[in-house]
Amino acid sequence: MAFFEMVKTALRTVLSRPATIRYPAEPAKKTLLTRGHVTIDESRCISCGTCQRKCPAQAILLNKEEKTWQMDRLRCVVCNSCVDTCPVKCLFMDTQYTAPTVTRGVEIVTITYVKPVKAADKGEIQG
Ligand code: SF4
Ligand code: SF4
Repeated sequence: MAFFEMVKTALRTVLSRPATIRYPAEPAKKTLLTRGHVTIDESRCISCGTCQRKCPAQAILLNKEEKTWQMDRLRCVVCNSCVDTCPVKCLFMDTQYTAPTVTRGVEIVTITYVKPVKAADKGEIQG
């Protein structure tokens, strides 16, 4: 009996359309909720570092001295945590997937604003 069930399943699978697509040759199916890749509006970033702290995959690296925001695409698990927690909403989840690549997907973006050091922090630095 199990044999006939197996044959039935095999035939059904052979005769049905594949569940997968030949991406990237065929465009991926997308909806409004599709998580493609994180993008940043660098002009609005206040370099608070929240996205870096909240990222479970350590995919984001903020360098306040060099005014850069860095994203390692191969580490990102597309969880949306950085987008949800950015206080100025300058991170977005684009529905477009990044192009397949064999090289390390680190992107470095120059940000234009660095949060001023607080008076208390200045005291610590000088003192
Ligand atoms: S989407 Fe998730 S894993 Fe990717 S950078 Fe943001 S917080 Fe990190
Ligand atoms: S992208 Fe948003 S959360 Fe990340 S450092 Fe800039 S302002 Fe802060």
